[in-house]
Amino acid sequence: MGKKYDVIVLGGGTMGVAAAFYLAKEGKKVLVIDQYSIPNTYGSHHGHTRMFRLGNGNGGQYVPLGKESLRLWKDLEEVSGKTLYQRVGALTVGHPKSEYVSEAIKSSVINDLTYEEMTASMIRERWPGIEIPDDYYGCYDPEAGFLFSEECIQTYKEEAIKLGAVVLENQAVVDLDIKSEQVTVFTTSADFTAEKLIVTAGAWIPKLLRSIDIPIKPLRKTIGWFKPTVEKLYSEGFPCFIFDTDTIGHYYGFPDFDGGGVKLGRMDLGYDCDPDTVNREFGAYEDDESDIRNFLEQYLPGAAGELVKGAASMFAMTPDEDFIIDIHPEYQNVCVAGGFSGHGFKFASVVGKILTELATKGETQYDISFLRLNRFSEVEKV
Ligand SMILES: Cc1cc2nc3c(=O)[nH]c(=O)nc-3n(C[C@H](O)[C@H](O)[C@H](O)COP(=O)(O)OP(=O)(O)OC[C@H]3O[C@@H](n4cnc5c(N)ncnc54)[C@H](O)[C@@H]3O)c2cc1C
Repeated sequence: MGKKYDVIVLGGGTMGVAAAFYLAKEGKKVLVIDQYSIPNTYGSHHGHTRMFRLGNGNGGQYVPLGKESLRLWKDLEEVSGKTLYQRVGALTVGHPKSEYVSEAIKSSVINDLTYEEMTASMIRERWPGIEIPDDYYGCYDPEAGFLFSEECIQTYKEEAIKLGAVVLENQAVVDLDIKSEQVTVFTTSADFTAEKLIVTAGAWIPKLLRSIDIPIKPLRKTIGWFKPTVEKLYSEGFPCFIFDTDTIGHYYGFPDFDGGGVKLGRMDLGYDCDPDTVNREFGAYEDDESDIRNFLEQYLPGAAGELVKGAASMFAMTPDEDFIIDIHPEYQNVCVAGGFSGHGFKFASVVGKILTELATKGETQYDISFLRLNRFSEVEKV
């Protein structure tokens, strides 16, 4: 029998290392295991940056979590002495009937956030690199910006280790033996036991927690970096952006803040995939570049220059695109956090705290009622 811990965190990606940090801070003996290095380019967190916005939709329910996340990201910057967050603002823009834009405005109003509602002409005047039809409108969030994703994960890992956490990389968990008083985790070369288990294995969760029907569907997604043809139009003063168009779909991106290009991805669509066999080569699918280039040509034409690089990764989608954070319906000593549906990174800091509270106290101070598993009526014990 291997070494015994208070808590094992299965999956040392975005949410796993955050949980490991807060558990270690609470004085818990914690082991975090990942099948790859931490961070890595196989899950959902690579690609340098992730957008942070407060005025998210869904009736504003994510806003309190977002505020707490931002506070915790700033704490992490202070503890580590690193810059992890860049505040550059974010513009949400869309067609006249876009619920995405109206939701962003509504949640800003409900939560008393600072925001600017903007007409198409105001947007074009402030950012001349943007071309949109006259009837489009937008919502600008000045507090928004982006996090350096791999750097955040690296930092949580380093700080967790300083606090005594044990981090095991490049060892896949291949089996679990869950009992109400103890969990045993089997990797390819060893086994470990703990009182509690936190499963933060991203797109792999359904493969690991097979006794419950956990509705997470992995989607292959791509991102590309493009060199603007018009200098400076998309760098200084240019915000992160989300476009809900009525012609070609829903796209998001980042300014060219470091000369590496404007980064662009698509929020909707994507290809169903298996995380163990997905083709991670950018360009493997015919539309990997053409789809995002098409958006730039129409809406940010001066950014549609040479493709600098591309990457492929995965969203882990739930049916309603809200996260799953809960205690296992059968085992009180197991927690799960997944299905972050392409918008979870910004919340990783608070998710780490929530998981720590769930694992150590069985409850959390944060309102996660809308993220619990029982909202899916089809979730059944097998
Ligand atoms: C292209 C793209 C753009 C995005 N943009 C944004 C954005 O702008 N803003 C935002 O807030 N969010 C964004 N997201 C979403 C965000 O990045 C994800 O929600 C978040 O990274 C998910 O974290 P996770 O911990 O669930 O998964 P991951 O970070 O993928 O971690 C899961 C880990 O589990 C490990 N694992 C799995 N199975 C095993 C096993 N059997 N044994 C051991 N280890 C295992 C994996 O190796 C992996 O490291 C984006 C996602 C993508 C893909």
